[in-house]
Amino acid sequence: MAVIFFIIPGSQSKIALNQITSMINKIKVSWSPTVARNDKDQTVIKNKDTIEVTAKDIPTYYITALLDDKSFQINGQVNLTINNPGTDTIVFYTYPYSWSSMNIKKVFLNDEIANFAYDRRQLTIKNPYKKKELSIQIEFQTPVPRRGTRFGYKDNVWLVTTWYPMLGVLDNNQNWVDRPDPIGMGDPYLFNFANYVVEWTSSPSIKWLSSGTLLSETMVGNERKMTWKVDGVRNFALAGSTKYKIKEIKPDENTTISIALTSEENFDRIRNITNAAFSTYKAHYGQLPYSNLAIIETGNDTNFALEYPNLAVFSKDMYVDNKIEHWLPHEIGHIWWYNAVGINEVKNGWIDEGLAEMGVVLYLENRYSKSEGKQLRDTYRKRNQLLINTSPYQTLDAGLYRYGNRQELYDSWYARSADMFLTLRDEIGEKAFNHFLKTLYQTNVGETINEDSIAKALKKSVSIETDLFQNWIHDPYQLTRWDIKIN
Ligand SMILES: [Zn+2]
Repeated sequence: MAVIFFIIPGSQSKIALNQITSMINKIKVSWSPTVARNDKDQTVIKNKDTIEVTAKDIPTYYITALLDDKSFQINGQVNLTINNPGTDTIVFYTYPYSWSSMNIKKVFLNDEIANFAYDRRQLTIKNPYKKKELSIQIEFQTPVPRRGTRFGYKDNVWLVTTWYPMLGVLDNNQNWVDRPDPIGMGDPYLFNFANYVVEWTSSPSIKWLSSGTLLSETMVGNERKMTWKVDGVRNFALAGSTKYKIKEIKPDENTTISIALTSEENFDRIRNITNAAFSTYKAHYGQLPYSNLAIIETGNDTNFALEYPNLAVFSKDMYVDNKIEHWLPHEIGHIWWYNAVGINEVKNGWIDEGLAEMGVVLYLENRYSKSEGKQLRDTYRKRNQLLINTSPYQTLDAGLYRYGNRQELYDSWYARSADMFLTLRDEIGEKAFNHFLKTLYQTNVGETINEDSIAKALKKSVSIETDLFQNWIHDPYQLTRWDIKIN
């Protein structure tokens, strides 16, 4: 058995693995409110763009899981303590494919075995308790699909996403929102912000990266156990391969970005895109509240490009026609808009997709030239103008389920929305626009934003009110006026 020493982030002392394990075990066993509260402490980032995030009362998931890479099964246990919402039931979402269902084995509520119902979408637990806090423990088994799906194994790459039960989302009236159904386009997932401690055991031959910061790794018999921790993310994902070659870059003193590729030849290309995108977004939006990010390559015919907390994922198909130059900066942008600042992607996906696409223009301007950026901006305008003919009655606020197909979704939530933000920049000038972007980001880290948040940030930062949002978001596309009024 190897005992490896790691430096715990935030401390300067080396702590032996057994101390960390016993610390985590203590957390799990005693549910000590003192320890739990430490996880919710204020996150203060001392940097040029100082953000002070007062982490709200968000739960911590303690997950232990074992991946059997021969049977493609994950056996795991989720533990978390929440403030009792006083609802008759507690709801968890699961997002398995219909052909690859998750199995919920046991549920404990406040240490007692609990009655539950599971319909492969939602796990519903009766909540008879009046206690202020509920501790919930769920034992689950999840098969890993052997396909190039967004959760799956293909070409020796494991992409492990939405693999455990996640607490449901309550609406403003304290009702559980029904879990959204995937429809083969967009990101129909709802998440809460949460902290995570994840203990993951698998074959030592697989090199893993995840949404968290690695605290420790050690051999347990023939298996290797890795423990990660991260605060204030919307879910926890992992990627691994026996073939990964991993290199780290440090774009600033707070941040380490691991790049995991299956061959050396593309490292320079990916490193240069990553450095340029990271520095562009940090300058325009502000510092991230996370210290460890990863760039993940998956096989051909898998998933184009995907965002997960602190992970930007792209398939090898992106190397063709240099699509990587667009979609990697796009996915890196989602670490700011989607993860650090949350968005309801079912209802308001135009916000994070539009800002991620707008970010690619900023990246091109910053890395190459204004005219490179303008070419892409003109493409957004063209796609947006096409909508006037192809979908004259459609609106940007339609919600994911009311778009007819991927092209209409792309032209709306990506192109039209990016065009809208860039039109605003043309109107108010770059200086004011940049101030607005920083305000929108820095006042909303850890929050889920909507149209109102954008209007508020605009007013707060540069005292501007505009009809742009009414006209471009709520009016049908055929009524688009290309000039905008500023009050
Ligand atoms: Zn996106």
